[in-house]
Amino acid sequence: MFVHHCSACAKDQLIFPSMLSGVRTTDLGTEVTFECWCGSLQVAGAGHVLATA
Ligand SMILES: [Zn+2]
Repeated sequence: MFVHHCSACAKDQLIFPSMLSGVRTTDLGTEVTFECWCGSLQVAGAGHVLATA
């Protein structure tokens, strides 16, 4: 899991692997899409630091 600052609810949210809806690899690295606790679709990765648990 990792911490993501949501652009919709403006909070630092703890994101679990079970919340991920998509993973793709870009030139910059791995990018994941997921639904925040607030219901907003968010994207993380490609420059963000992901700490896997
Ligand atoms: Zn949110």
